Amino acid sequence: DTGLVWFRHDLRVLDHPALTAATQNHSSVRAIYLLCPQQLDEHIIAPIRRQYLRLALDELSRNLAALGIPLDIVDAGHFSKVPTTLATYCQQHDIAQVYAHREFLVDEMQRDLRCSEQNIPLTLLSDALILPEQALKPDGKPYQVFTPFSKRCRQWLAQHFPQCLPKPYVKADKLILKPSVCPVFGEERDAGDWPVKESAVLDAMRQFCRERAHRYKEERDFPDLAGTSKLSPALALGLVSARQCLARLQMEAGEEIWDAKTGAGCWFNELLWREFYRHIAFHFPRIVRGHAFQTHTDQLRWQGSDTDFAAWCEGRTGFPIVDAAMRQLKQTGWMHNRLRMIVASFLCKDLHLDWRRGEAYFLSTLIDADFASNNGGWQWAASTGTDAAPYFRIFNPTSQSQRFDPNGNFIRRFLPELAHCSDKDIHAPMPQANYPAPRIDHAQAREISLSMFAELKAS
Ligand code: FAD
Repeated sequence: DTGLVWFRHDLRVLDHPALTAATQNHSSVRAIYLLCPQQLDEHIIAPIRRQYLRLALDELSRNLAALGIPLDIVDAGHFSKVPTTLATYCQQHDIAQVYAHREFLVDEMQRDLRCSEQNIPLTLLSDALILPEQALKPDGKPYQVFTPFSKRCRQWLAQHFPQCLPKPYVKADKLILKPSVCPVFGEERDAGDWPVKESAVLDAMRQFCRERAHRYKEERDFPDLAGTSKLSPALALGLVSARQCLARLQMEAGEEIWDAKTGAGCWFNELLWREFYRHIAFHFPRIVRGHAFQTHTDQLRWQGSDTDFAAWCEGRTGFPIVDAAMRQLKQTGWMHNRLRMIVASFLCKDLHLDWRRGEAYFLSTLIDADFASNNGGWQWAASTGTDAAPYFRIFNPTSQSQRFDPNGNFIRRFLPELAHCSDKDIHAPMPQANYPAPRIDHAQAREISLSMFAELKAS
């Protein structure tokens, strides 16, 4: 009697409900990961993320082998072929039951439905969210605003604080000595700066909760400080669960987690933003199809040019904080949250480019690319989303730079050509040969944005 664990965005062995269920219910357990290289190509997955995923699969394979569970990494080709590939595998291996974690994006949910139609005995368990997927307002409708959503989460969590599951127990005679190795699938870039071993990710998470979470509120907005956890790549692939983060945070910070004015409470809130955007993607699938959350804003007439877009991508806008941030993204595959907000606002409100172009560029460059969080962040910046920045509140890139990189240290790190500038001048340097002049006049660009939204209101 063999159970199969289908790994998707949950590449770990600790706190894994599907793995736990399979090992409890079956005398023999196998595991599968279905690679879809064609889908990764279509979605232009960042080379750094490809390597990170491949290394994470190798690590998972080793950890499962130590539990006596073979992991098969099967090439399904295209995403649409997943159900038939899985059905064939189940027949070949005489699988009695498949266990996986529920996903909430519309294409993934349809894929799972098609698996059931292929008579695959698929049991879906909750994992991706700390909260139940169906968290609804008292009137039965989904939340559309973060604050009431987060209040409801806190109330629920106060009564159902998450319990993490231990590693499943397996008899020593089952150990597998040769774990499988994931083949290279497409162009890669070195992801070596990011921990990929499950134990190293856990150590990093625990260390953050113990030593840095209490300073999070003061430090999280300054890109030159190591003020945030940098756990987003691990959370995106499920090398660690949000439950594990929350449980450890509570272990270290106790009751403080309930108070958003403390560092720990503030970090807890960020984990809830992640939940919120997943909740939005589940209840409002139009956003997965490229539509704005606020549908009337689909009429906005974005008019920016391709050359502006190229300058933004390459970090050549003449606004040092924007350019340093875009180069951080290009060089490291990651960008600080404050900078994501600044560059996203700049793309939409200063260059008047459609937010979807920035959204797609981020997805193709970020190591932590996550559809729901990325879309939520972009729509917030474009004033088309749920808790969107009001359209008239437009970031001034220079004052953001003065406020959040006061000595220009972050800028100097990624724009060495400005290293000689004084702390004061670096935010808006004098014209010079090796750095472009500002592409736009912010005051004028701001007026154009305001008129775009005024036109929309009038129409
Ligand atoms: P920390 O500050 O330590 O936060 C801990 C965790 O909470 C993060 O790892 C992340 O999982 C979650 N989180 C934090 N802030 C947010 C937020 N605003 N929205 C949703 N979840 C959050 N996050 C992604 O994981 N993937 C993306 O593709 C992504 N794209 C973004 C695009 C834009 C335009 C913006 C404004 C934000 C985006 N974010 C995205 C959210 C946020 O910027 C990153 O999660 C954060 O910078 C990751 O760094 P960290 O792990 O150090 O975060």
